[in-house]
Amino acid sequence: MNFCEGCNIACEGERCPQCGRKKLRAVDGEDFCLAGRVERAFGDSLKEHLQNENIDCVLMPYGTGVRAKFALPLESYLLYVRYKHLDRVRQILKDEA
Ligand SMILES: [Zn+2]
Repeated sequence: MNFCEGCNIACEGERCPQCGRKKLRAVDGEDFCLAGRVERAFGDSLKEHLQNENIDCVLMPYGTGVRAKFALPLESYLLYVRYKHLDRVRQILKDEA
């Protein structure tokens, strides 16, 4: 599995699906990788859930440009977790979605 440091995305191919960069390095278990996008309301309970399982996570506010411009609450989060936790977290997202 490869890892794009620019996008924090783990991918199987030689090229990052997000930015197209080709010089990817092998992913490390400690790397924070994009796990998915979650609704804002769900993000806060998810964070608690992950903490209960001792899974580190980073939630980045994600919204449309217009909302950001008017300083409205952002609609969703991008969720990043360590690569070693990625499968587990994807399972949690599936179960709770
Ligand atoms: Zn990239």
